[in-house]
Amino acid sequence: MPQLLDSDIKYLPGVGPKRAELLGKELGIHTFRDLLYTFPFRYIDRSRFYSVREIDSSTAWIQLRGHITRVEKVGEGRAQRLVARFSDGTGSIDLVFFKGLKWMEEKLKAGPEYIVFGKPSVFGQSWNLVHPEVDPATEEKLSQTGVMMGVYSSTEKLRNAGITNKFFEKMVATLLERVIETLEETLPAYIREQKHLAPLDYALQNIHFPTSVQALTRAQRRLKFEELFYLELSLLRQKSIRMRADSGVVFRRIGDYFNKTYEALPFPLTGAQKRVLKEIRADVASGKQMNRLLQGDVGSGKTLVAVLAAMIALDNGYQACVMAPTEVLANQHYHSIQKFLAPSGATIALLTGNTKQKERDVIHRGLLDGSLQIIVGTHALIEDTVQFRNLALAVIDEQHRFGVEQRSRLWSKSAVAPHVLVMTATPIPRTLAMTLYGDLDVSVLDELPPGRKPIETVHWTENRRGDLYNFMRQQIALGRQIFVVYPLIKESEKMDYKNLEEGYLHITEAFPAPKYVTAVVHGKQKAENKAFDMDLFVRGKANILVATSVIEVGVDVPNASVMVIESAERFGLSQLHQLRGRVGRGAEKSYCILMTGYKLSTESRQRIELMCATSDGFELAEADLRMRGPGDFEGTRQSGLAFDLHIADLAKDSPALVEARELGERILAEDPLLKEPKNRLLDAQLRVLRLDTTYKDYSNIS
Ligand code: ADP
Ligand code: MG
Repeated sequence: MPQLLDSDIKYLPGVGPKRAELLGKELGIHTFRDLLYTFPFRYIDRSRFYSVREIDSSTAWIQLRGHITRVEKVGEGRAQRLVARFSDGTGSIDLVFFKGLKWMEEKLKAGPEYIVFGKPSVFGQSWNLVHPEVDPATEEKLSQTGVMMGVYSSTEKLRNAGITNKFFEKMVATLLERVIETLEETLPAYIREQKHLAPLDYALQNIHFPTSVQALTRAQRRLKFEELFYLELSLLRQKSIRMRADSGVVFRRIGDYFNKTYEALPFPLTGAQKRVLKEIRADVASGKQMNRLLQGDVGSGKTLVAVLAAMIALDNGYQACVMAPTEVLANQHYHSIQKFLAPSGATIALLTGNTKQKERDVIHRGLLDGSLQIIVGTHALIEDTVQFRNLALAVIDEQHRFGVEQRSRLWSKSAVAPHVLVMTATPIPRTLAMTLYGDLDVSVLDELPPGRKPIETVHWTENRRGDLYNFMRQQIALGRQIFVVYPLIKESEKMDYKNLEEGYLHITEAFPAPKYVTAVVHGKQKAENKAFDMDLFVRGKANILVATSVIEVGVDVPNASVMVIESAERFGLSQLHQLRGRVGRGAEKSYCILMTGYKLSTESRQRIELMCATSDGFELAEADLRMRGPGDFEGTRQSGLAFDLHIADLAKDSPALVEARELGERILAEDPLLKEPKNRLLDAQLRVLRLDTTYKDYSNIS
């Protein structure tokens, strides 16, 4: 049955088709429900009157009460504006209008008392309120103050079409009036009681029109909790469905492949590597399909863990694959894995977009008849032509570049769903990992192999460029190699390449051939040129590699000991950390030099300072999350968060997230399919919220 809330927004009185279209385009508001769940992003306190004398540079939106002493038009033509002098007895301030002059001129009279509401700004030597709200101080108006006023997101286009904040408030008020009586509660009573949550109608009424600060807090708590709860419930249900599907390949034995590889290792495993291997072994012996996320800071030795897991698959007669996000990475993985497993005699091949057809045919045949045991590659691996004899372990590196859908395509390549090990070097704070990868189990490599020397990180501004080049020359004289990285941000690609090209020119002038060899790598290059230059650097033939952040992930050149990051302020913390992780892999002391201009925003300065102060990836990731919010968190956009959060904030509301998750776990433990009468609403709600769509991914398991 179609619900009232599903009605097209154009049918709301006062909206109509034109505004409806705009609301849809600009804010994604298509239905009554969409509008109902578009909450103010902040609130303005109209609970008191300020005095003009109080205004200073820290004053935000304020409400004043007083009289107009003078109204005059100033300026000519387009620059013409209306200026009204407003006084409240403690001082005077100018109310300034650039539009609707005539109308305002008629409205503003010297004499009567007004309530003025706006945000003070400085113009010339004095304080102004530009386009404030001005209302006669009637009894009615005065009684309406004392509330919190919501501010809704808006855009230029919306404002131009008359959809101001006031208009927005009116739409919401109309809507609430229409639907509030028939609104169906979306959380079962037992949960509301247990968690002391306000009823839905109260919460929605007060999130839009709070009657007090306390009411707003109650409303927020209820709505945030609900949002996080359904998100977690959906993820947990997917996980529980997977755990019930009794479909994992069982790896019973450890044999020669594993043992020979293990015994030939040039170093002992770290404690963390051993622990994670145990976790993986328990998974693959359980009879359930493994879905494990392996998080480890750069250099923590994830590849080796993957290799040993693959050897267990081989020991049990199965095949394994390793999938990387880029050609360069796939190559690198192939070479390092090959080295590790050579003593065992396992067969391995590399398959990427560049693999020649002839070679490709051989690989396809080998995978099909099982003579090829391990395949390393890029997206090329999930093409339909690639079929396995019995793939039982899929290792996916840097998962955030692979969608959930691609994961499932891999699964369809063999009779039984393979075990999946997802590796990521982007440390994700625990609370966020729980949500982003809620259907995965998480292992953490929290220990670096011994003997790594800490990387010295410094922040230099442009005036030290001479010092920088001198330092680089010294390091090159010592036989070291150097990365110089330029930012690459999609929106201004052209400009970025200009940066890189200019930078490359500067470098080749300061480090002229033939004394120095400089390689360059960026996304706009032909694949073979890129491979050639990369290879120069990897083999130690080039002293300097000038690159965009394409080298961010994975690239392993132990002899590179200096990472210079240009315009470092334009990188996020996690990205800076990833880049820094490219050095400090060899025996030599390593350096990371963050170059910036003189002028930095407070936030950029904080980021850079933090980078200099700590090398702990998790600490940086937590800070990143706090500073930028999860929406901007690297990887989250592609990570397949099932829906946008309307109100909850994964960083700030993590206690509620944990609480929501625990509740979800308890409910599913008792009633995994949500079939009990008291839980029917939960099941229905997951469908309304379309949080059940991801089930598709599991359809080919059994
Ligand atoms: P990650 O992929 O986690 O960034 P890698 O797997 O590339 O890290 O490992 C980084 C380097 O450390 C590699 O050269 C690898 O051979 C080496 N390595 C891995 N495990 C150990 C260990 N237990 N002891 C010493 N070196 C190790
Ligand atoms: Mg790696």
